[in-house]
Amino acid sequence: MSDEHLESPFRVPLWASLLGWVAAVGFMGFYFHVAHAVMRGLTPSFGLDSGAIATATFGTIAMGLGIVWLVFIAELPEMWFLHRRPHLMARDGRCPACGHPVRAAGMDHCGECGVAVDRLPPSYAVGWRAVKRFSVALLLGFLAGTITAEVVIAADERSMRSTIRSLTSRPEAVPSAEPREMTFTRRWPASFSSVDWSEDSGFQPVAIFSYGSGP
Ligand SMILES: [Zn+2]
Repeated sequence: MSDEHLESPFRVPLWASLLGWVAAVGFMGFYFHVAHAVMRGLTPSFGLDSGAIATATFGTIAMGLGIVWLVFIAELPEMWFLHRRPHLMARDGRCPACGHPVRAAGMDHCGECGVAVDRLPPSYAVGWRAVKRFSVALLLGFLAGTITAEVVIAADERSMRSTIRSLTSRPEAVPSAEPREMTFTRRWPASFSSVDWSEDSGFQPVAIFSYGSGP
């Protein structure tokens, strides 16, 4: 950070910076979570399958290109507090930095904070810093979304396994004439996808595109 930056009378309040970041990363994280869970549901696999995870991740990245503009949410506090708001307050006859009325008093320096009343920041422009911040917010959102999706999928498959364990540990509970089978539906947002289990072949992910209609 340069000295020039420290001296600037225009500041973004901490709460606004945090809110912008939390909103940007949270919104993108949610989007990537849904996109990744859907991509994983479309890629038939069960258990830890690095090939399926890699295929789904490429799909998630491709779906992310459509929401790159959302990272502007993280820039909103700066756009407002460092650029737009000072201009609006100056037009209103107030100090551009703190909002104290200055025009009526005919002062050229603010009586509250001492800033020159005609000192106005430049208009907002996308600079290198903004691009870097965009990239960081996008990466955080992507990581948060895909990692939480993988955690939810792993927990879902663990609960399928434990259902089967409790089923097979009580053999007398079901007639044993036919091999036992069960179909699990994956958790939202991949609830279009299901996993078959049978005593003979274990867990088998149901391919989405192999037969025309759903289950
Ligand atoms: Zn002031």
